[in-house]
Amino acid sequence: MSTIVLNGRELSQTLLKEQQIQVEEIVRLKGRPPGLAVVLVGQDQASETYVRNKRGACAKVGIFAPDINLPADTPQKELEAIIDRLNADPSIDGILVQLPLPSGIEKETILYRIDPAKDVDGFHPVNVGKLVIGLETLAPCTPTGIMTLLDRYHIPVSGKNAVVLGRSLIVGKPMALLLMARDATVTVCHSRTAHLMEETRRADIVVAAMGKPLMVNRDFIKPGAVVIDVGISRNQEGKLVGDVDYAAVAPVASAITPVPGGVGPMTIATLLDNTIRAFCLREGISLQLARTPS
Ligand code: NDP
Repeated sequence: MSTIVLNGRELSQTLLKEQQIQVEEIVRLKGRPPGLAVVLVGQDQASETYVRNKRGACAKVGIFAPDINLPADTPQKELEAIIDRLNADPSIDGILVQLPLPSGIEKETILYRIDPAKDVDGFHPVNVGKLVIGLETLAPCTPTGIMTLLDRYHIPVSGKNAVVLGRSLIVGKPMALLLMARDATVTVCHSRTAHLMEETRRADIVVAAMGKPLMVNRDFIKPGAVVIDVGISRNQEGKLVGDVDYAAVAPVASAITPVPGGVGPMTIATLLDNTIRAFCLREGISLQLARTPS
């Protein structure tokens, strides 16, 4: 059996090209591009890299992405006022506050101040609630990107047993909801799950989002399962590794994401998708979206 490598890096480049066409269409229809405000507070090195990549991707597809870089000692009230200003700014369709925020700033107060219509991260309780109910909404980028990856590789989800390792608000919980919405039978595991391996060995689709480097080995995986690795950690040599022991698992999986180059690039492409969707929802337009045949 040959294993399909789910190449998120390649697919994200395809998505970016499609988004460029969508943005051109939007400018033609509405006279302005979608706008995404990426707010960076402080000088965390990893955050600076993430923000640079997000703004760079926006530039590639033509999304307006002003730099909003604030010092680490920005008072809570000042940051709240900046969010209020962005909420009211008609040229801005999406607002993303890069996490983690410096200590001293209350994360939830800031995230929940973002207008739900501009909440491209999908963290606002209104959008989380809509996702639970099954209403159209902006859903978190990483799990949404994983659904796109599965779809573009024609991997069936309906009726499959899916096991999600991790129950965070950013990945695990929304992942479970998105899989359930597509008629998978979903089990969510976490650090207190009693027999983790028994759960994963029943799974047709395993999504690992624990932040536990290389924990998922061959014994966790049913032969032929689809394995999605969300984890990003650095090993002792400083190399990026996922939660899945790729070398051990790839030979038994039917499809698998590498780290790096799997889920990570899909997250950024989905952020741009969410920004375009936020624009369309706010402006009340629907685009006949260009899609590269696969
Ligand atoms: P969190 O730390 O918020 O959540 C980790 C989850 O894993 C928790 O629910 C935790 O359980 C569970 N967990 C931890 N240890 C175990 C274990 N031994 N067995 C079973 N479950 C366990 O992390 P995130 O969800 O934010 O991120 C997870 C990973 O994904 C990280 O490596 C992160 O860097 C990466 N990531 C990658 C992204 C990408 O774009 N590729 C985007 C976002 C995250 P409990 O709830 O009981 O504590």
